[in-house]
Amino acid sequence: METSTTQAYRIAKFGPWSEMDRHRVGTLQGKVFAREALGLTGCEVSLHRMPAGTGMPFLHAHRQNEEVYLVVSGEGTFHLDGEETAVSEGDVLRVSPPVARGFRAGRQDLCLVCIQAKEGSLEQATRDDGFLLDAKASWMA
Ligand code: ZN
Repeated sequence: METSTTQAYRIAKFGPWSEMDRHRVGTLQGKVFAREALGLTGCEVSLHRMPAGTGMPFLHAHRQNEEVYLVVSGEGTFHLDGEETAVSEGDVLRVSPPVARGFRAGRQDLCLVCIQAKEGSLEQATRDDGFLLDAKASWMA
């Protein structure tokens, strides 16, 4: 496999979460997409800090992509096809493409990471795709 160092990995420093307001997507303050910065080719990733007491001003759905929302911190409510459910730190949600979705923060800021990828596109997962190497990191004996 031939890759240059810059193509082999990239690190985007969007944080800290307390300063996520530096980022903006359209009218959404505190949101940033990572695809361009990271050169992602198989998924899109976004980070979003929704201030306490505020929420998305619209619902949306997708044509092909499922979304996984990881609640990094805080708490709030997700609207999913007419049902509303409480979420909090550590929750992970998977949402099918056509589901109408939106969220709001509760009494604390709601910090989310959203990963979207084409539904049905995963051909293998960690145990089939990952493998151990003989190489060592500095902290390995
Ligand atoms: Zn979406």
